Amino acid sequence: MPIFDTDIATTAPAISWQHSFADLGEGFSVPLQATPLAAPYWVGHNAELGAQMGLPVDWMQSDHWLQALTGNTPLEGSRPLASVYSGHQFGVWAGQLGDGRAILLGEANGLELQLKGAGPTPFSRRGDGRAVLRSSIREFLCSEAMQGLGIRTTRALCVTGSDAAVRRETLETAAVVTRVAPSFIRFGHFEHFSHNDQHDQLKTLADHVIERLYPDCRGSAHWGANPYVALLAAVTERTAQMVAQWQTVGFCHGVMNTDNMSILGLTVDYGPFQFLDGYQPGHVCNHSDHQGRYAFNKQPNVAYWNLYCLGQALLPLIEEQDSAIAALETFKTHFPQAMAQRFGAKLGLNDGDQAPAALIEDLLTLLASEAVDFTIFWRRLSHWTRLQDPADASVRDLFMERAGIDAWLLAFSDLHLTDKRDLAAQRMLASNPKYVLRNHLGELAIRAAQQKDFGPVADLLQVLQSPFDEHPQHQALADFAPDWAGGIEISCSS
Ligand code: AMP
Ligand code: MG
Repeated sequence: MPIFDTDIATTAPAISWQHSFADLGEGFSVPLQATPLAAPYWVGHNAELGAQMGLPVDWMQSDHWLQALTGNTPLEGSRPLASVYSGHQFGVWAGQLGDGRAILLGEANGLELQLKGAGPTPFSRRGDGRAVLRSSIREFLCSEAMQGLGIRTTRALCVTGSDAAVRRETLETAAVVTRVAPSFIRFGHFEHFSHNDQHDQLKTLADHVIERLYPDCRGSAHWGANPYVALLAAVTERTAQMVAQWQTVGFCHGVMNTDNMSILGLTVDYGPFQFLDGYQPGHVCNHSDHQGRYAFNKQPNVAYWNLYCLGQALLPLIEEQDSAIAALETFKTHFPQAMAQRFGAKLGLNDGDQAPAALIEDLLTLLASEAVDFTIFWRRLSHWTRLQDPADASVRDLFMERAGIDAWLLAFSDLHLTDKRDLAAQRMLASNPKYVLRNHLGELAIRAAQQKDFGPVADLLQVLQSPFDEHPQHQALADFAPDWAGGIEISCSS
């Protein structure tokens, strides 16, 4: 009889699960178990997040957790489910969608755990319920890259893989991402019940979101003391801030359908996303987006449009159309304000100070005129700021045409008094990342992982989790995109 259990993690205290979403009852979700995947293996894991969630220290060495987070064995006390939602896709009402390949296990310490790619659900429509290794690695790395950048996002605990074949354009292999967030509720959840005239469920859902995620919306004197208007206003503000963060770091989401918009203003559903290499404001990162609906520079307008869909969905609860519109209109102040503050930080201004609009406008025109690398420009500018030495050509070298940038640098220098340059540079280095998840970096890590070399995924994760640090040994990950990067095609296929 064994005295010691070799799989120590299984003997650690079990997670104490809550299930507030499951408790909403029938009509919101369907209970179901994940579909097992043969012979799973670890592809990547996030030790920091595991610790934060109170997982046993050795969870990533444990077969118990490997099987559980692949969906092969249930986690004790969890109540897996798939939820129903609807949504507007590419501007058109798409009807019922739902968790077609995501299975919510429950919540622990206020964080929900969800397996993405763990098999079909009643909402899979014609999909297979699976996710491929390629897209799972992209989601895993980008979630943590965004977190590292200080951008609100769903998190990723780990990716497990299996050699089971999954058919996309070609045959690929399966993987499961374990996602973590306080909630995975989307605008589309509200649209679903509103569209189907299920106003009782709509109210139940809104009350649940307010109670659990936006408690300040109840009992507030703002917005005529109407908690549902307050909710719409709060989501509007968070969404405005999130998109301002995207725009100032060069993040293109790629598929901003209303079912991919988080009620918490978290970046969610990493599919065809891209961080800009050269600054091309009209860039469309999703090769399936033929109209360019989700081009980089259209993201703020799309967010506003999506918020209108949410407002429309909440109207049966809000009752007064004028109040809903007033709440939505706040986007027009929150968004520019957030942009000016983010750019202020990128320029090294004091906390909360807004960047001069003309200075930013001129700069973005210059960057766009030569498609200058967005991340490298800001990082070099941060270093340049310390000395502001005209002989330091690091920033000028990014431009073929020098007159424009020279004039801009002169105007920029006026912002920072000589004795404050060090401080400004420090602030800039903490606001302008050295590392972002460029397409080609993800691609190289994916290719290695497809050959069962998971080292590059781990290295990238480590660097992306602290993207403002120098990591001199990983300098190559901060380089310009190679020519072949332009040929990487990222579509909705995942
Ligand atoms: P997305 O474009 O990834 O946001 O997905 C849109 C909808 O399609 C969501 O309801 C997904 O759950 C569903 N979906 C995407 N891929 C699959 C798949 N392979 N199997 C089942 N459902 C899927
Ligand atoms: Mg989605």
